[in-house]
Amino acid sequence: MASGGDLAVHSPIDGREIARVRHDDAAAVQKKIGAAVKAFQVWRDVPAPRRGELIRLLGQELRTHKEALGRLVTLETGKILQEGLGEVQEMIDICDFAVGLSRQLYGLTIVSERPGHRMMETWHPLGPIGVISAFNFPVAVWSWNAALAFVCGDPVVWKPSEKTPLTALACTRLFARAMNVFGDAPDGLLSVVIGGHEVGEAVVDDSRLPLISATGSCRMGQVVGPRVAQRFGRSLLELGGNNAMIVAPSADLEIAVRAILFSAVGTAGQRCTSLRRLIVHRDIYDDLIPRLKAAYGSIAIGDPLVDGTLVGPLIDERGFTGMQKALEQVRAEGGAVTGGCRVFEDKFPEAFYVQPAIAEMDGQTDIVRTETFAPLLYVLVYGDLAEAIALHNGVPQGLASSIFTNDMREAERFLSSAGSDCGIANVNIGPSGAEIGGAFGGEKETGGGRESGSDAWKAYMRRATNTINYSNELPLAQGISFNVG
Ligand code: NAD
Repeated sequence: MASGGDLAVHSPIDGREIARVRHDDAAAVQKKIGAAVKAFQVWRDVPAPRRGELIRLLGQELRTHKEALGRLVTLETGKILQEGLGEVQEMIDICDFAVGLSRQLYGLTIVSERPGHRMMETWHPLGPIGVISAFNFPVAVWSWNAALAFVCGDPVVWKPSEKTPLTALACTRLFARAMNVFGDAPDGLLSVVIGGHEVGEAVVDDSRLPLISATGSCRMGQVVGPRVAQRFGRSLLELGGNNAMIVAPSADLEIAVRAILFSAVGTAGQRCTSLRRLIVHRDIYDDLIPRLKAAYGSIAIGDPLVDGTLVGPLIDERGFTGMQKALEQVRAEGGAVTGGCRVFEDKFPEAFYVQPAIAEMDGQTDIVRTETFAPLLYVLVYGDLAEAIALHNGVPQGLASSIFTNDMREAERFLSSAGSDCGIANVNIGPSGAEIGGAFGGEKETGGGRESGSDAWKAYMRRATNTINYSNELPLAQGISFNVG
């Protein structure tokens, strides 16, 4: 394990220091970005299907080391091992996707209004990409960006969360192995810069990086978005969520309870897509909520490396105090709280395990409209679907959403332009646990970015519109006459 650096890394499992790594200073960041610029000159000319071969090899490394990397994710983030392994599987999946994509970077052909002319679109590599990632998906979010960026012809400079540098360093090792087997990929294709927001800001402000893909809190996005815009860079922002589920009278409550449980307490409520607001029809409230409380009562909380544990620790003390402050505000705003206490304080005085909390609210108060990054689920009641959708959309964030209903009209209305205003809208599954095939991201304060599948790759390329004249004339567009003499 790394030692001797000035940044201490603690495991949330027991709060123990597990390694020390070195911060990158400003000069080191500059140097790494410089190396990425150089790598770009070479990598952009490598045919895309050949670039895909490097990602195929990365996928192979990830398959070989899935167990070890999954365990490290658990050790560094505190998510349960099943989820640590799932995160690595997500990396493998996006590598497979990117390999296929490397032969599908299609542009359009367009009919011209001029005789003997043809138009088309060409997609070119954009340049080195800055990737800033959050602690809760320390490696999957990097891979969503990096696998696409590499096949699109772009080097990557990665600033991982200062809370999770070890998993990032492990990924650079695996990537280096893939580079080795590949043979002639340029140095500087991937660099990791270690540090906090000041290192992030050095990446954000560097105009040699035409795209900054930043994942984290809305607070971070509010700084990063304007700074990148100031230098006319592009930003892809994947920020906080405040995700809801509507449970309608016709819902299958058996699977609804399971979906609520996974979405609200999985990853100890520390997913951007975690379920935070449950909007329940008044006719089923007294059936659903006692069942849910009973299910909450039987959740296994504990060491995330132990088989059978469903809820591990919060990332750190800050995460814990954030949850306790939110619970205080809930009570002040008239909410009724079940759960939410700290547990295992004797066994793990330096770690922060909590009972997931349910807060029954009379209305969508200020605290309900705020993302608290912890297992805290608000419950609201509704009477008709229009009211439920208004509550659903009445928050600043717009990431993930879902409805449980067996009524086809309700489901379609929820998915329509008058329904959920989120980037992700699901029926009869929870809001969390996306697959890589779809575009991932959200609206409003979630930032508007899209990553991963579908056509998200276009963010990592620049589009050129080409017009080709194969005639012997020079007709002008819009029929303009411009005759000389
Ligand atoms: P955070 O905002 O504290 O940090 C995220 C990253 O941004 C870190 O690498 C951090 O060092 C960096 N950073 C912070 N301030 C910066 C600045 N001024 N300039 C440049 N970089 C800066 O978030 P976190 O606590 O690590 O993660 C939790 C948050 O991330 C939650 O709000 C969650 O919803 C969100 N998140 C969103 C998505 C998504 O895809 N929408 C995915 C994961 C997490």
